[in-house]
Amino acid sequence: MTVSLRELSEVDAGHLRRCVELAAAALEDGDEPFGSVLVDPNGEAVFEDRNRVSGGDRTRHPEFEIARWAAANMSPEDRALSTVYTSGEHCPMCSAAHAWVGLGPIIYATGTEQTREWYADWGIAPGPVSPLSIRQVAPGIDVRGPVEELVAEVRGLHARMLGITDRGR
Ligand SMILES: [Zn+2]
Repeated sequence: MTVSLRELSEVDAGHLRRCVELAAAALEDGDEPFGSVLVDPNGEAVFEDRNRVSGGDRTRHPEFEIARWAAANMSPEDRALSTVYTSGEHCPMCSAAHAWVGLGPIIYATGTEQTREWYADWGIAPGPVSPLSIRQVAPGIDVRGPVEELVAEVRGLHARMLGITDRGR
């Protein structure tokens, strides 16, 4: 269910904005526009990353890097109390990684279903992985998103990547 920035805390909103910034930076560098931040139980952003698939490894998603970083650097207890913020909802690979390492809640700016709809509207062929939601892949994770006010900006980044003049909707 779509949420508004007003329903989130200032802190949550700040982390989500950082994710969108990271997504824009990824796009500048020739990667796909996705960015994510890991926040530990003390509220500290301890790790962040953005998409890095342009080198040819299509698994270089920030949420996957976060899961592996958390497994290597945090206790299971801390992982369970950590939140992952992301510009675009986790794909099935990253949802599974998130669940397998026992991370806590996820807050995302835009959802997988939205992204799927944009790409369909733009006539882009679907990728090789089913666009399942986090809830479908890892039903135990507490998930919030998409966030109303951030959708247009993220959609704009995707349109730019694809060279599409987007009229919005
Ligand atoms: Zn992913």
